[in-house]
Amino acid sequence: MIALSLAEIASAVGGQTYDIPDESVRVTGPVVIDSRKVEAGSLFAAFAGERVDGHDYARQVVDQGAAAVLASRPVGVPAIVVDDVQAALGALARHVVARLGATLVALTGSAGKTSTKDLIAQVLRRKAPTVFTPGSFNNEIGLPLTALSATDDTKFLVLEMGARGKGHIRYLTGLTPPRVGLVLNVGTAHIGEFGGREQIAEAKGELVEALPADGTAILNADDPLVRAMASRTRAKVLLFGEAADADVRAENVRLTENGQPAFSLHTPTGCSEVTLRLYGEHHVSNALAAAAVAHDLGMSVEEIALALSEAGTLSRWRMEVTERPDGVTIVNDAYNANPESMRAALRALTAMGQARRAAGGRTWAVLGQMAELGDESLAEHDAVGRLAVRLNVSKLVAVGGREASWLQLGAYNEGSWGEESVHVSDAQAAIDLLRSELRPGDVVLVKASRSVGLESVAQALLDSG
Ligand code: ATP
Ligand code: MG
Repeated sequence: MIALSLAEIASAVGGQTYDIPDESVRVTGPVVIDSRKVEAGSLFAAFAGERVDGHDYARQVVDQGAAAVLASRPVGVPAIVVDDVQAALGALARHVVARLGATLVALTGSAGKTSTKDLIAQVLRRKAPTVFTPGSFNNEIGLPLTALSATDDTKFLVLEMGARGKGHIRYLTGLTPPRVGLVLNVGTAHIGEFGGREQIAEAKGELVEALPADGTAILNADDPLVRAMASRTRAKVLLFGEAADADVRAENVRLTENGQPAFSLHTPTGCSEVTLRLYGEHHVSNALAAAAVAHDLGMSVEEIALALSEAGTLSRWRMEVTERPDGVTIVNDAYNANPESMRAALRALTAMGQARRAAGGRTWAVLGQMAELGDESLAEHDAVGRLAVRLNVSKLVAVGGREASWLQLGAYNEGSWGEESVHVSDAQAAIDLLRSELRPGDVVLVKASRSVGLESVAQALLDSG
């Protein structure tokens, strides 16, 4: 973080100082909420959780070198005391980003935020020092912590913003006001909680409402609800997608024989070929979004295409492809699932299987529930099961309860599949089945919603290779 005196921090957050002998002492280390991450010069923000209360660690973190504690009560060591630690953390982030010379890029969407954020960061950092959200740190605590990790030389600050309801994005943009705002898609994520797609669009669109007149709203031309957000912003609008009128566009989209997407990238500065190192064609949209951000920030189509072609996955369990020594390939996409990404992952699986067909390989789709689909749940699970048959997946292993049975039933109804689709009750049963059945050349996709925890299956299969 940029160095700030305790006096300045106290004033920025409207706090009272306690037990601080010298208020000109500066916080130079990271701002943290986890006592294990404290470094010399840190500011430790004490949160009272369900099981642990950060205030209990106040003495310990100061002994470890923390400059002070941001707390909701005096704790007997140097502290800045506020009514609400979370609000204070937000206020401090707002204060710090106002002093930075960095351009703030914020993105939201139903699916692909973290993947896209990782792509944007890998492109922008070729041009200038870039700080970005680690993992999915996209809420009212993670976002300020990310912003506070920027330093004086940071030029681009890339921030993932998550929304579980109306007003969430507005709150986050109030803390870290972006100049560039990107909306990826309005899918079905959390549809149960929101009530419907229109409500999701209403909430995500708060991002472009927050942009200044000299900012840029980057919108998905292929998603009607996102495209319509153009009317909700004062900022310039840049469209990305496969639509003919998109400013940043992909043409000739195809999967390489490896299952990796390739396309011709068109930006207003020209055209260049891209082959992604990522799997699944849903990443084309993510890559175009990243390209649009980079274009807006002054990068040429050649620079962008090169950076995208070399970008890898920075966050785990998202189409993570590993080949075991015995020639079985595991595709771990257990981080999360929704209908769009299930379809993309199945198509990538088919392409990878075709590339290995000569080796006798079969394709296995080990799939679990897609959560939070509300009334659409039955139809969506059924459709995914059917698609597995249409794509000629060799074997579907549906893991879990009722929703998994809908996956299997869809497959059964589409192709009168018998042995090609099985339904097992839990991860262990899937592991046992696969361990005995897999043979060299096989490709196994493991995918479900986060709550199902199917990464244990992927891990067990990797360990038994
Ligand atoms: P979270 O809300 O959990 O932070 P996220 O929006 O950050 O999720 P990612 O972590 O990038 O999204 O990806 C989550 C899952 O969504 C991945 O497993 C992937 O299969 C899928 N996904 C990624 N990009 C897209 C996309 N453009 N369209 C649909 N699904 C996608
Ligand atoms: Mg995320």
